[in-house]
Formats: sequence, structure tokens, C-alpha cells
Amino acid sequence: MGKMKKATYQDENGKDFTVEYDPDDPCLYCGYPVEEASMGGTLVCPSCDMGVNRFTGRPWSLEEYFLVHKNFKLATTGGKTTPAFGRPERK
Ligand SMILES: [Zn+2]
Repeated sequence: MGKMKKATYQDENGKDFTVEYDPDDPCLYCGYPVEEASMGGTLVCPSCDMGVNRFTGRPWSLEEYFLVHKNFKLATTGGKTTPAFGRPERK
């Protein structure tokens, strides 16, 4: 459990509200620590919120898309997610 962070969102009436979140919680899609809240919420990392691979910055390939959605299904049905795609190897 890491140090909690805060994120501010607006409700449907345009009123700000703040939520606390743990940046070490795994992202519902990629399975890596969420690190920063996104428009999609505190459980989705900013890259997945935009549908891009956080390591390459490129839009998900079809294969990555299926992997992250498998993770999402697991995460939302009480299963355990695993990192959907590997960190790119450094050469
Ligand atoms: Zn993610």
C-alpha cells in the first residue's frame, strides 16, 4: 500500500468532489500500478484511459486490446489481473 493521492472530479451538476486513491493499485486494464488518476477514474491509468500502451505510447494493437479487456473482466468479477503486456525490452 503506497501513499494515498487525491484526484478531483466534477459530478453531473458541475460540482467538484475529491477522491483518495492508492497509486499502487493495479490499473483495471493493463494491470500495472495506476500511478496517476485519469479522466476514467482512479482505477484506470491515463494511458489505458486513452487506449494506448503505456510503454510504447502507441494505440493498443488488437492483441493488446483483447488482453486488457480480459483483465478488465477479471478485475470486475473479483479475479486477479496480471500485467496485460510486457514492458518493452531494452536493447
Ligand atoms: Zn492501465
